[in-house]
Amino acid sequence: MEAKKDVFIACESSFNKADIVILGAGFDSTTTYRPGARFAPAAIRRESYSIETFSPYQNKDLADLKVCDTADLELPISDTKKTLKAIQNGIEKVLKSNKFPLLIGGEHLVTLGAVRAVLNKHPDICIVHFDAHADLRDDYLSDKLSHSTVMRRCFEELNSQQIFQFGIRSGEKQEFEFAKNLIFMTRFNFDNIEHTLQLIKGKRVYFTVDMDVLDPSQFPGTGTPEAGGVSFLDLLAATKTVFDTCDVVAFDMVELNPMVDPSGISTSLSCKYLREVLLYIGESLK
Ligand code: MN
Ligand code: MN
Repeated sequence: MEAKKDVFIACESSFNKADIVILGAGFDSTTTYRPGARFAPAAIRRESYSIETFSPYQNKDLADLKVCDTADLELPISDTKKTLKAIQNGIEKVLKSNKFPLLIGGEHLVTLGAVRAVLNKHPDICIVHFDAHADLRDDYLSDKLSHSTVMRRCFEELNSQQIFQFGIRSGEKQEFEFAKNLIFMTRFNFDNIEHTLQLIKGKRVYFTVDMDVLDPSQFPGTGTPEAGGVSFLDLLAATKTVFDTCDVVAFDMVELNPMVDPSGISTSLSCKYLREVLLYIGESLK
């Protein structure tokens, strides 16, 4: 059988048969520095045919999972509120069918739409957030809805008001002051992540990964690169810890911008990371 080329590699299940559903949210309208993240879902799908479906890290094969890649949500990207609502609706449809939603951004604001959907089903979720940036501004140039305010907005909507951040190395002074009492923030890396996440062991978690948590030397293809980041292998190990410790109920990866990386290494890293994440999800659903 010839592979379908309009989906992520080996993610050819129908919606009804799938355990995991991939949605793309190609939205980047609030990007402040280098736009282009809207092209990430398509670039990831296209580039995925350069990787193997087998993972030597986990001794598992993507072809053994039932994943449906529903392609990109149709988003009115000049209207931020309507876009967030469309993302929320898309994720709600997946959750209603008792399937695991995996969202590919887009810029980080897409997370807010997905978190709203998950909160409707699971009012008790916490958030685990990997990023170079705190994303805790109250507003950006008086705009409340921005990639740089997304975690502040999520914090306001969470009932548990528990956000666990890792890798943070950039933000305004006020963001770090806000975080001091209200957010579990680990600066620069994933130090003590096993220990920290014991606080929410077994609890339901929304897991969001801003790919700029990686060092720009390994991941130059992003809108706001920040020197001093983690390595791919660090990210992989920390990701495994989250899936091993918490009950992850939804996942997103955001902020790949293939337009600013002519080498393509950031897109190919994203594909490999997505394969590993899909396999972690598959394991967690057993
Ligand atoms: Mn972010
Ligand atoms: Mn970031």
